[in-house]
Amino acid sequence: MKVGNVVGLVGWRGMVGSVLIDRMIAEGDFDLIEPIFFSTSNAGGRAPAQAKNETKLQDGFDIATLKKCDIIITAQGGDYTTEVYPKLRASGWTGYWIDAAKTLRMNKDSVIVLDPVNRNVIDAALARGVKDYIGGNCTVSCMLMGVGGVFKAGLVEWMNAHTYQAASGGGAANMRELITQYGSLYSEVKDLLDDPKSAILEIDRKITNKQRTFSAAETEHFRGVPLGGNLIPWIDRDNGDGTSLEEWKGGAETNKILGLGADFGSSPEFAAIPIDETCVRVGAMRCHSQSLTFKLKKNVPLADLEAIIANDNAWVKYVPNVREETERHLTPAMVAGSLQIPVGRVRKLAMGPEYLGAFTIGDQLLWGAAEPLRRMLRILLQSPL
Ligand code: NAP
Repeated sequence: MKVGNVVGLVGWRGMVGSVLIDRMIAEGDFDLIEPIFFSTSNAGGRAPAQAKNETKLQDGFDIATLKKCDIIITAQGGDYTTEVYPKLRASGWTGYWIDAAKTLRMNKDSVIVLDPVNRNVIDAALARGVKDYIGGNCTVSCMLMGVGGVFKAGLVEWMNAHTYQAASGGGAANMRELITQYGSLYSEVKDLLDDPKSAILEIDRKITNKQRTFSAAETEHFRGVPLGGNLIPWIDRDNGDGTSLEEWKGGAETNKILGLGADFGSSPEFAAIPIDETCVRVGAMRCHSQSLTFKLKKNVPLADLEAIIANDNAWVKYVPNVREETERHLTPAMVAGSLQIPVGRVRKLAMGPEYLGAFTIGDQLLWGAAEPLRRMLRILLQSPL
Protein backbone atom coordinates (compact mmCIF):
# COMPACT_ATOMS: atom_id res chain seq x y z
CA MET A 1 0.00 0.00 0.00
CA LYS A 2 1.37 3.43 -0.90
CA VAL A 3 1.62 6.23 1.65
CA GLY A 4 -1.32 8.68 1.26
CA ASN A 5 -0.68 12.22 0.07
CA VAL A 6 -2.60 14.35 2.58
CA VAL A 7 0.22 16.35 4.12
CA GLY A 8 -0.17 18.63 7.13
CA LEU A 9 2.25 21.57 7.24
CA VAL A 10 2.89 23.12 10.64
CA GLY A 11 5.37 25.93 11.27
CA TRP A 12 5.53 26.93 7.59
CA ARG A 13 5.70 30.66 8.50
CA GLY A 14 8.89 30.44 10.58
CA MET A 15 12.48 30.58 9.40
CA VAL A 16 12.83 26.86 8.62
CA GLY A 17 9.24 26.59 7.43
CA SER A 18 9.57 29.47 4.94
CA VAL A 19 12.70 27.94 3.44
CA LEU A 20 10.95 24.57 3.33
CA ILE A 21 7.98 26.01 1.40
CA ASP A 22 10.35 27.76 -1.05
CA ARG A 23 12.16 24.50 -1.72
CA MET A 24 8.90 22.55 -2.05
CA ILE A 25 7.71 25.06 -4.64
CA ALA A 26 11.04 24.92 -6.49
CA GLU A 27 10.95 21.12 -6.65
CA GLY A 28 7.25 20.81 -7.55
CA ASP A 29 6.39 18.94 -4.36
CA PHE A 30 2.98 20.60 -4.08
CA ASP A 31 1.96 18.89 -7.35
CA LEU A 32 2.18 15.58 -5.50
CA ILE A 33 0.33 16.36 -2.30
CA GLU A 34 -2.95 17.59 -0.87
CA PRO A 35 -1.62 20.09 1.69
CA ILE A 36 -3.38 21.18 4.88
CA PHE A 37 -1.78 24.27 6.41
CA PHE A 38 -1.89 24.63 10.20
CA SER A 39 -1.17 27.59 12.45
CA THR A 40 -0.69 27.94 16.18
CA SER A 41 -1.51 31.67 16.15
CA ASN A 42 -3.94 32.34 13.29
CA ALA A 43 -6.41 29.44 12.89
CA GLY A 44 -9.13 30.41 10.43
CA GLY A 45 -6.82 32.79 8.56
CA ARG A 46 -6.08 32.41 4.89
CA ALA A 47 -3.73 29.59 3.93
CA PRO A 48 -0.88 30.35 1.50
CA ALA A 49 -1.33 30.13 -2.26
CA GLN A 50 -0.21 26.49 -2.38
CA ALA A 51 -3.37 25.39 -0.55
CA LYS A 52 -5.77 23.37 -2.71
CA ASN A 53 -9.08 22.13 -1.23
CA GLU A 54 -8.47 23.46 2.27
CA THR A 55 -7.84 27.20 1.91
CA LYS A 56 -8.17 28.20 5.57
CA LEU A 57 -5.50 27.76 8.21
CA GLN A 58 -6.37 24.92 10.56
CA ASP A 59 -5.70 24.96 14.29
CA GLY A 60 -2.31 23.33 14.89
CA PHE A 61 -3.56 22.02 18.25
CA ASP A 62 -6.71 20.39 16.86
CA ILE A 63 -6.00 16.66 17.06
CA ALA A 64 -9.07 15.69 15.01
CA THR A 65 -7.89 17.73 12.01
CA LEU A 66 -4.25 16.67 12.40
CA LYS A 67 -5.47 13.06 12.34
CA LYS A 68 -6.71 13.52 8.77
CA CYS A 69 -3.11 13.79 7.54
CA ASP A 70 -1.16 10.84 6.19
CA ILE A 71 2.05 12.77 6.80
CA ILE A 72 2.72 15.78 9.03
CA ILE A 73 5.76 17.99 8.53
CA THR A 74 6.41 20.38 11.36
CA ALA A 75 8.96 23.14 11.74
CA GLN A 76 6.99 24.72 14.57
CA GLY A 77 9.53 23.97 17.29
CA GLY A 78 10.15 21.65 20.20
CA ASP A 79 7.44 22.99 22.52
CA TYR A 80 4.82 22.25 19.89
CA THR A 81 6.11 18.72 19.35
CA THR A 82 6.21 18.08 23.09
CA GLU A 83 2.62 19.19 23.46
CA VAL A 84 0.96 17.79 20.35
CA TYR A 85 2.85 14.66 19.28
CA PRO A 86 1.99 12.47 22.33
CA LYS A 87 -1.69 13.46 22.14
CA LEU A 88 -1.81 12.71 18.44
CA ARG A 89 -0.22 9.27 18.82
CA ALA A 90 -2.41 8.56 21.87
CA SER A 91 -5.45 9.31 19.71
CA GLY A 92 -4.46 6.39 17.49
CA TRP A 93 -2.87 8.35 14.61
CA THR A 94 -0.43 6.10 12.72
CA GLY A 95 0.76 8.56 10.08
CA TYR A 96 4.31 9.71 9.37
CA TRP A 97 5.72 12.54 11.49
CA ILE A 98 8.54 14.59 9.93
CA ASP A 99 9.95 17.18 12.32
CA ALA A 100 12.69 19.83 12.44
CA ALA A 101 12.71 20.01 16.25
CA LYS A 102 15.09 18.16 18.53
CA THR A 103 12.37 16.72 20.80
CA LEU A 104 12.12 13.25 19.26
CA ARG A 105 15.55 13.01 17.63
CA MET A 106 17.20 10.67 20.07
CA ASN A 107 14.12 8.48 20.67
CA LYS A 108 14.82 4.84 19.98
CA ASP A 109 11.88 4.72 17.58
CA SER A 110 12.91 7.70 15.47
CA VAL A 111 15.42 8.14 12.68
CA ILE A 112 17.48 11.27 12.05
CA VAL A 113 17.11 11.96 8.34
CA LEU A 114 19.96 13.03 6.08
CA ASP A 115 19.47 10.75 3.12
CA PRO A 116 22.62 11.55 1.10
CA VAL A 117 24.50 10.28 4.17
CA ASN A 118 22.17 7.68 5.72
CA ARG A 119 19.68 6.47 3.12
CA ASN A 120 20.47 2.92 4.23
CA VAL A 121 19.41 3.73 7.81
CA ILE A 122 16.19 5.39 6.53
CA ASP A 123 15.30 2.49 4.23
CA ALA A 124 15.86 -0.06 6.98
CA ALA A 125 13.64 1.99 9.31
CA LEU A 126 10.85 2.27 6.73
CA ALA A 127 10.95 -1.47 6.21
CA ARG A 128 10.50 -2.12 9.95
CA GLY A 129 7.61 0.36 10.23
CA VAL A 130 9.26 3.38 11.85
CA LYS A 131 6.92 6.40 11.62
CA ASP A 132 8.99 9.29 13.04
CA TYR A 133 11.62 10.93 10.83
CA ILE A 134 13.41 13.83 12.43
CA GLY A 135 15.78 16.41 10.93
CA GLY A 136 19.17 16.50 12.60
CA ASN A 137 20.86 19.35 14.39
CA CYS A 138 21.74 21.91 11.73
CA THR A 139 25.48 21.99 12.46
CA VAL A 140 25.72 18.21 12.48
CA SER A 141 23.82 17.81 9.19
CA CYS A 142 25.91 20.46 7.42
CA MET A 143 29.13 18.91 8.75
CA LEU A 144 28.17 15.44 7.52
CA MET A 145 27.13 16.75 4.11
CA GLY A 146 30.62 18.24 3.84
CA VAL A 147 32.95 15.62 5.30
CA GLY A 148 30.67 12.59 5.55
CA GLY A 149 32.95 10.80 3.11
CA VAL A 150 35.77 10.67 5.65
CA PHE A 151 33.42 9.05 8.19
CA LYS A 152 31.96 6.62 5.65
CA ALA A 153 35.46 5.54 4.66
CA GLY A 154 35.93 4.41 8.27
CA LEU A 155 38.93 6.69 8.74
CA VAL A 156 37.89 8.73 11.77
CA GLU A 157 39.31 7.87 15.21
CA TRP A 158 37.91 11.08 16.71
CA MET A 159 36.84 14.57 15.66
CA ASN A 160 36.87 17.96 17.33
CA ALA A 161 34.82 20.87 15.96
CA HIS A 162 34.76 24.58 16.69
CA THR A 163 31.62 26.14 15.29
CA TYR A 164 30.69 29.65 14.18
CA GLN A 165 26.90 29.61 14.09
CA ALA A 166 24.67 32.29 12.56
CA ALA A 167 21.88 34.22 14.26
CA SER A 168 19.26 32.55 12.06
CA GLY A 169 19.96 29.30 13.91
CA GLY A 170 17.80 30.80 16.65
CA GLY A 171 14.90 31.62 14.32
CA ALA A 172 13.25 34.59 12.61
CA ALA A 173 13.14 36.83 15.68
CA ASN A 174 16.86 36.36 16.37
CA MET A 175 17.75 37.50 12.86
CA ARG A 176 15.69 40.64 13.28
CA GLU A 177 17.34 41.32 16.62
CA LEU A 178 20.83 41.04 15.10
CA ILE A 179 20.11 43.44 12.24
CA THR A 180 18.43 45.90 14.59
CA GLN A 181 21.52 45.85 16.81
CA TYR A 182 23.82 46.47 13.84
CA GLY A 183 21.58 49.41 12.87
CA SER A 184 21.73 50.86 16.38
CA LEU A 185 25.49 50.49 16.49
CA TYR A 186 25.82 52.30 13.18
CA SER A 187 23.49 55.12 14.27
CA GLU A 188 25.52 55.54 17.44
CA VAL A 189 28.67 56.51 15.51
CA LYS A 190 27.33 57.73 12.17
CA ASP A 191 28.41 61.33 12.76
CA LEU A 192 31.92 60.25 13.71
CA LEU A 193 32.14 57.94 10.67
CA ASP A 194 31.07 60.79 8.40
CA ASP A 195 34.02 62.82 9.65
CA PRO A 196 37.24 61.23 8.31
CA LYS A 197 39.25 63.07 10.97
CA SER A 198 37.35 61.63 13.92
CA ALA A 199 39.32 59.48 16.36
CA ILE A 200 38.93 55.72 15.90
CA LEU A 201 39.21 55.13 19.62
CA GLU A 202 36.20 57.38 20.17
CA ILE A 203 34.20 55.29 17.67
CA ASP A 204 35.37 52.10 19.35
CA ARG A 205 34.47 53.42 22.81
CA LYS A 206 30.96 54.44 21.74
CA ILE A 207 30.32 51.08 20.05
CA THR A 208 31.48 49.12 23.10
CA ASN A 209 29.40 51.32 25.37
CA LYS A 210 26.31 50.83 23.18
CA GLN A 211 26.79 47.06 23.13
CA ARG A 212 27.00 47.02 26.91
CA THR A 213 23.93 49.21 27.40
CA PHE A 214 21.45 47.68 24.95
CA SER A 215 18.07 47.43 26.66
CA ALA A 216 16.48 44.12 27.66
CA ALA A 217 14.10 44.48 24.69
CA GLU A 218 17.01 44.98 22.28
CA THR A 219 18.70 41.76 23.42
CA GLU A 220 15.63 39.69 24.27
CA HIS A 221 16.25 36.81 21.90
CA PHE A 222 19.88 36.20 22.79
CA ARG A 223 19.21 36.12 26.53
CA GLY A 224 20.26 39.69 27.25
CA VAL A 225 23.59 39.47 25.39
CA PRO A 226 24.38 41.58 22.30
CA LEU A 227 25.35 39.61 19.19
CA GLY A 228 25.98 42.55 16.83
CA GLY A 229 29.78 42.95 16.69
CA ASN A 230 30.09 40.23 19.32
CA LEU A 231 30.07 36.44 19.77
CA ILE A 232 28.57 34.13 22.38
CA PRO A 233 30.47 30.89 23.12
CA TRP A 234 27.44 29.00 24.42
CA ILE A 235 24.46 27.65 22.44
CA ASP A 236 21.42 25.91 23.94
CA ARG A 237 20.97 24.37 27.39
CA ASP A 238 23.70 23.94 30.00
CA ASN A 239 24.22 20.20 30.48
CA GLY A 240 25.79 20.85 33.86
CA ASP A 241 28.97 18.98 32.96
CA GLY A 242 30.83 21.80 31.23
CA THR A 243 29.16 21.24 27.87
CA SER A 244 26.20 22.79 26.14
CA LEU A 245 23.38 20.73 24.68
CA GLU A 246 24.45 21.91 21.21
CA GLU A 247 27.91 20.43 21.82
CA TRP A 248 26.46 17.15 23.08
CA LYS A 249 24.37 16.85 19.92
CA GLY A 250 27.54 16.85 17.82
CA GLY A 251 28.60 13.44 19.08
CA ALA A 252 25.22 11.89 19.82
CA GLU A 253 23.55 12.83 16.54
CA THR A 254 26.53 12.24 14.25
CA ASN A 255 26.78 8.68 15.53
CA LYS A 256 23.02 8.09 15.31
CA ILE A 257 22.89 9.40 11.72
CA LEU A 258 25.79 7.14 10.75
CA GLY A 259 24.18 4.13 12.44
CA LEU A 260 26.97 3.85 15.03
CA GLY A 261 26.75 3.20 18.76
CA ALA A 262 25.16 0.68 21.08
CA ASP A 263 21.70 0.93 19.50
CA PHE A 264 23.07 -0.37 16.21
CA GLY A 265 25.22 -3.32 17.28
CA SER A 266 27.85 -4.37 19.77
CA SER A 267 30.71 -5.31 17.42
CA PRO A 268 33.67 -2.88 17.05
CA GLU A 269 32.55 -1.85 13.55
CA PHE A 270 29.50 -0.18 15.15
CA ALA A 271 31.47 1.58 17.90
CA ALA A 272 30.55 5.25 18.38
CA ILE A 273 33.19 7.76 17.29
CA PRO A 274 34.25 10.24 20.02
CA ILE A 275 33.31 13.75 18.91
CA ASP A 276 33.69 16.92 20.95
CA GLU A 277 32.83 20.48 20.05
CA THR A 278 32.89 24.09 21.19
CA CYS A 279 29.81 25.79 19.74
CA VAL A 280 29.86 29.54 19.28
CA ARG A 281 27.15 31.95 18.10
CA VAL A 282 28.57 34.70 15.87
CA GLY A 283 27.02 37.78 14.31
CA ALA A 284 26.50 36.16 10.88
CA MET A 285 22.99 36.15 9.40
CA ARG A 286 22.78 32.72 7.88
CA CYS A 287 25.02 29.62 7.55
CA HIS A 288 26.87 27.67 10.19
CA SER A 289 30.63 27.38 9.75
CA GLN A 290 32.93 24.99 11.51
CA SER A 291 36.60 24.31 11.89
CA LEU A 292 37.28 20.58 12.19
CA THR A 293 40.18 18.56 13.51
CA PHE A 294 40.25 14.84 12.74
CA LYS A 295 42.45 12.20 14.23
CA LEU A 296 42.56 9.59 11.50
CA LYS A 297 42.98 5.89 12.15
CA LYS A 298 45.95 5.85 9.78
CA ASN A 299 48.09 8.13 7.67
CA VAL A 300 46.23 8.66 4.39
CA PRO A 301 47.79 10.81 1.64
CA LEU A 302 46.28 14.28 1.48
CA ALA A 303 45.29 13.88 -2.19
CA ASP A 304 43.27 10.75 -1.32
CA LEU A 305 41.49 12.59 1.49
CA GLU A 306 40.69 15.49 -0.83
CA ALA A 307 39.18 13.05 -3.33
CA ILE A 308 37.14 11.27 -0.64
CA ILE A 309 35.65 14.60 0.46
CA ALA A 310 35.12 16.03 -3.03
CA ASN A 311 33.43 12.91 -4.44
CA ASP A 312 31.14 12.05 -1.54
CA ASN A 313 27.94 13.65 -2.83
CA ALA A 314 26.63 16.03 -5.47
CA TRP A 315 26.51 19.03 -3.13
CA VAL A 316 30.07 19.09 -1.74
CA LYS A 317 32.21 21.79 -3.27
CA TYR A 318 35.90 21.25 -2.65
CA VAL A 319 37.72 24.56 -2.12
CA PRO A 320 41.49 24.43 -2.73
CA ASN A 321 43.45 25.44 0.35
CA VAL A 322 44.78 28.75 -0.94
CA ARG A 323 43.97 32.28 0.13
CA GLU A 324 42.07 33.56 -2.92
CA GLU A 325 39.76 30.55 -3.24
CA THR A 326 39.14 30.44 0.50
CA GLU A 327 38.25 34.13 0.74
CA ARG A 328 35.93 33.88 -2.26
CA HIS A 329 34.16 30.62 -1.64
CA LEU A 330 34.39 29.80 2.05
CA THR A 331 32.35 32.51 3.78
CA PRO A 332 28.77 32.50 5.08
CA ALA A 333 27.84 35.42 2.82
CA MET A 334 28.82 33.36 -0.26
CA VAL A 335 27.09 30.18 0.87
CA ALA A 336 23.77 31.65 2.11
CA GLY A 337 20.83 30.41 0.06
CA SER A 338 22.86 27.68 -1.64
CA LEU A 339 22.59 23.93 -1.32
CA GLN A 340 26.32 23.61 -1.97
CA ILE A 341 28.47 22.66 0.98
CA PRO A 342 31.99 24.03 0.48
CA VAL A 343 34.82 22.29 2.29
CA GLY A 344 38.23 23.92 2.36
CA ARG A 345 41.34 24.53 4.45
CA VAL A 346 41.95 20.78 4.14
CA ARG A 347 45.46 20.08 5.34
CA LYS A 348 47.58 17.82 7.50
CA LEU A 349 48.21 19.42 10.88
CA ALA A 350 51.44 20.03 12.77
CA MET A 351 50.53 17.36 15.34
CA GLY A 352 51.32 14.52 12.92
CA PRO A 353 50.34 12.89 9.62
CA GLU A 354 47.18 11.33 11.07
CA TYR A 355 45.80 14.75 12.01
CA LEU A 356 43.63 16.44 9.41
CA GLY A 357 42.18 19.96 9.50
CA ALA A 358 39.21 21.20 7.46
CA PHE A 359 36.75 24.10 7.41
CA THR A 360 33.21 23.76 6.13
CA ILE A 361 30.13 25.96 5.80
CA GLY A 362 26.51 25.03 5.19
CA ASP A 363 23.30 26.97 4.92
CA GLN A 364 21.76 25.56 8.07
CA LEU A 365 18.28 26.43 6.89
CA LEU A 366 18.71 24.27 3.79
CA TRP A 367 20.78 21.13 4.43
CA GLY A 368 20.71 21.88 8.15
CA ALA A 369 16.91 21.94 8.38
CA ALA A 370 14.46 22.18 5.48
CA GLU A 371 16.06 20.03 2.79
CA PRO A 372 16.33 16.71 4.66
CA LEU A 373 12.66 17.09 5.68
CA ARG A 374 11.55 17.84 2.12
CA ARG A 375 13.52 14.90 0.78
CA MET A 376 12.03 12.62 3.43
CA LEU A 377 8.58 13.64 2.24
CA ARG A 378 9.60 12.63 -1.29
CA ILE A 379 11.00 9.32 -0.06
CA LEU A 380 7.67 8.57 1.65
CA LEU A 381 5.58 9.59 -1.37
CA GLN A 382 7.70 7.35 -3.60
CA SER A 383 7.86 4.52 -1.12
CA PRO A 384 6.04 1.31 -2.12
CA LEU A 385 5.17 0.64 1.56
P1 NAP B 1 10.90 30.35 14.08
O1 NAP B 1 11.44 31.14 12.94
O2 NAP B 1 10.86 31.02 15.41
O3 NAP B 1 9.42 29.84 13.69
C1 NAP B 1 8.64 28.99 14.53
C2 NAP B 1 7.20 29.51 14.62
O4 NAP B 1 7.17 30.74 15.32
C3 NAP B 1 6.53 29.84 13.32
O5 NAP B 1 6.04 28.71 12.67
C4 NAP B 1 5.39 30.77 13.75
O6 NAP B 1 4.27 29.97 14.15
C5 NAP B 1 5.97 31.44 14.99
N1 NAP B 1 6.33 32.86 14.82
C6 NAP B 1 6.20 33.78 15.80
N2 NAP B 1 6.66 34.97 15.38
C7 NAP B 1 7.07 34.84 14.11
C8 NAP B 1 7.62 35.74 13.15
N3 NAP B 1 7.84 37.03 13.42
N4 NAP B 1 7.95 35.25 11.93
C9 NAP B 1 7.75 33.96 11.64
N5 NAP B 1 7.22 33.07 12.51
C10 NAP B 1 6.88 33.50 13.76
O7 NAP B 1 11.73 29.01 14.32
P2 NAP B 1 12.69 28.21 13.28
O8 NAP B 1 14.05 28.76 13.34
O9 NAP B 1 12.01 28.10 11.99
O10 NAP B 1 12.78 26.78 14.01
C11 NAP B 1 11.73 25.82 13.96
C12 NAP B 1 12.26 24.50 14.47
O11 NAP B 1 13.32 24.06 13.62
C13 NAP B 1 12.86 24.55 15.89
O12 NAP B 1 12.57 23.35 16.55
C14 NAP B 1 14.34 24.66 15.63
O13 NAP B 1 15.11 24.16 16.70
C15 NAP B 1 14.48 23.78 14.40
N6 NAP B 1 15.65 24.09 13.59
C16 NAP B 1 15.95 25.37 13.30
C17 NAP B 1 17.05 25.64 12.51
C18 NAP B 1 17.46 27.03 12.17
O14 NAP B 1 18.54 27.20 11.60
N7 NAP B 1 16.67 28.05 12.46
C19 NAP B 1 17.82 24.58 12.01
C20 NAP B 1 17.47 23.26 12.31
C21 NAP B 1 16.36 23.03 13.10
P3 NAP B 1 2.75 30.37 13.82
O15 NAP B 1 2.66 30.72 12.36
O16 NAP B 1 1.96 29.14 14.16
O17 NAP B 1 2.49 31.53 14.70
